[in-house]
Amino acid sequence: MSVARPAAGRWPTDSISFGGDYNPEQWSPEVWVEDVALMREAGVDLVTVGVFSWALLEPEPGRYEFGWLDQVLDLLHAGGIRVDLATATASAPPWLARLHPEVLPVAEDGTRYAIGGRQTWCPSSPVYRERSLLLVEQLAARYGQHPALAMWHVSNELGCHNVHCFCDVSATAFRAWLQRRYGTGEAGLAELNRAWGTAFWSQHYGDWAEVGVPRRTTATGNPTQRLDFLRFSSDALLEQYEAEASVLRRVTPEVPVTTNFMVTSHQWAMDYGTWAAGQDVVSNDHYLDHRLPDPHAELSFCADLTRGLAGGGPWLLMEQATSAVNWQPVNVAKRPGETLRDSLVHVARGADGVCFFQWRASVAGAEKYHSALLPHAGTRTRLWREVRELGRALRSIDEVRGTRVQADVAQLFDHQAWWACDAPNRPSELMGYTDAGRAVHRALRAAGVTSDVVPVATPDLAGVLAAHRVVVVPTLHLCTDATAAAVADAAAAGATVVVTCSSGIVDEDDHVRPGGYPGAFADLTGVRMDQFHPLPAGERLELENGWAGTVWSEEGTVDDDVEVVARVTAGPLPGQPAVTRRPLPGGGAAWYVATQLDDASWAALLDRVLQEVGVGPAAVAPAGVEVVRRVSADGERSYLFCLDHTGAEQRVAARGVELITGATVDGEVTVPARGAAVVRETAG
Ligand SMILES: [Zn+2]
Repeated sequence: MSVARPAAGRWPTDSISFGGDYNPEQWSPEVWVEDVALMREAGVDLVTVGVFSWALLEPEPGRYEFGWLDQVLDLLHAGGIRVDLATATASAPPWLARLHPEVLPVAEDGTRYAIGGRQTWCPSSPVYRERSLLLVEQLAARYGQHPALAMWHVSNELGCHNVHCFCDVSATAFRAWLQRRYGTGEAGLAELNRAWGTAFWSQHYGDWAEVGVPRRTTATGNPTQRLDFLRFSSDALLEQYEAEASVLRRVTPEVPVTTNFMVTSHQWAMDYGTWAAGQDVVSNDHYLDHRLPDPHAELSFCADLTRGLAGGGPWLLMEQATSAVNWQPVNVAKRPGETLRDSLVHVARGADGVCFFQWRASVAGAEKYHSALLPHAGTRTRLWREVRELGRALRSIDEVRGTRVQADVAQLFDHQAWWACDAPNRPSELMGYTDAGRAVHRALRAAGVTSDVVPVATPDLAGVLAAHRVVVVPTLHLCTDATAAAVADAAAAGATVVVTCSSGIVDEDDHVRPGGYPGAFADLTGVRMDQFHPLPAGERLELENGWAGTVWSEEGTVDDDVEVVARVTAGPLPGQPAVTRRPLPGGGAAWYVATQLDDASWAALLDRVLQEVGVGPAAVAPAGVEVVRRVSADGERSYLFCLDHTGAEQRVAARGVELITGATVDGEVTVPARGAAVVRETAG
């Protein structure tokens, strides 16, 4: 779309933004007055208002009630608090489903969902689109000039619950999407038959009317049909975003527009790489997932990926929890210090704003046990004290805003590779798309080395990769020719490349690249594997140099100029190459890793790679202390973030001024237990 975007890059506040979702409709006007006073006490300067307000703003079709929202925005403005105003379209009111039952989404098995949850609408519904845009038009007209308005917040967590709809309306929209991809008429259908490989299992389509959404099937459905449906579903929600954003940009071209992403371990359905360009400010919601073995390693990974989506620039943490969430089997609360520390991990990795769900803890509704800035117990609480401390700490590091995170390592990320890799009927269900990428990131983080997690849709991908000393390609199962060329270009420019198994296997149609694995990276790495040998759960692959792997091994050969760094000693095929290194004419090397290395082996391999290219840690720090550096564009100022995960006070080598305490740092900075230190560095 060709909408002018003068607001791009404009920050919603004049500071590192601090605040959260504010849902005043759950409270009386007397409480609103207290809320604003307490927000000021905490140092809150940005709140998101109206996310779930549609049913109250438009209690019946076409009758709008804005009085209460007028009052709330005026109160916030009088308190000096800026507003990220939601379009309120995230959850439709019950009357929409009563009058138009066809807006209710349908599950893969044909079940139609009922109202009572949230996001109960079909992404392709023209009725929903029309009604939602009427509301957005009203909001833009009424509040576009309100002095509290800092940013527009389109919908909320688009795709959290309704991304894949299998209704007939969606099927029609899917066919239209396919005709845009493959062409219309007989020629388009022939191209679809080719791409989907319908010669197999007698699936050849003779008429567009036979083509549908991938509903429940007897045997495994067509993989490319599934892949295209995942692409279509992400695009359908992106289209809803763009439709709302285009109304807002027409009415208020100067106001930045965002929607909050969910870059996290378990959200995989939105191809954010294709969404990022449409955001004036990239914003993200992140919640620690205590179902994972190392939730804080995942936090850092997601923050680095969000920065990648923001093109390396600043981004806004739109939601996180001050303490526990309410949607995991056991909802772990944060211990003293952790609210501030986890917030500053996001800032260290590029966030220029720290916001939470939500301001005041609800007493009713599905999220009443979700923590908030202001807990049920009120202000005489440790949590409230820590919220105020966080507000003060963010003000003390305001000068960090606008600086960029320093990283010499890039690792590629792609939602479409995730979709293709984790599909049914793959060689091993133990091979998960994110496993190798997270393992590499975990090892680097433990070594004090920051990596940029770069989406493959990044503009000038080759240039971005070539600006790094090391490029890691983890499990890039689906890889286009363009992405493979960008990696090869970076290698030619001198980068060292590390490719892991299950990369380069299929093209964008999910067709296997013939000639040996890793397909798209076979020439670069000089590796020609001809069979996968997945390992049963619990079985280890032992390598001659003491390294070890699980899940995966391969059988094949390497070219003459390839050094075999480690061969298999115990596994399905002893003697097979498991880790290889090919020197490149550009001065770097192309590594290939044919198994899922364990953490110790990744640490050893990456240590060798980093030594070869001369990349060291941001600072010498004890194990369990996360260190990241942010640097100003002119290189004049640098800030070292030290974040303790050991639970004990630690010391890190540094010189300068610690900004939160104001203390001079002459050789070593003290990092509080489960706390953070931010040093404005001086040389010497
Ligand atoms: Zn639908």
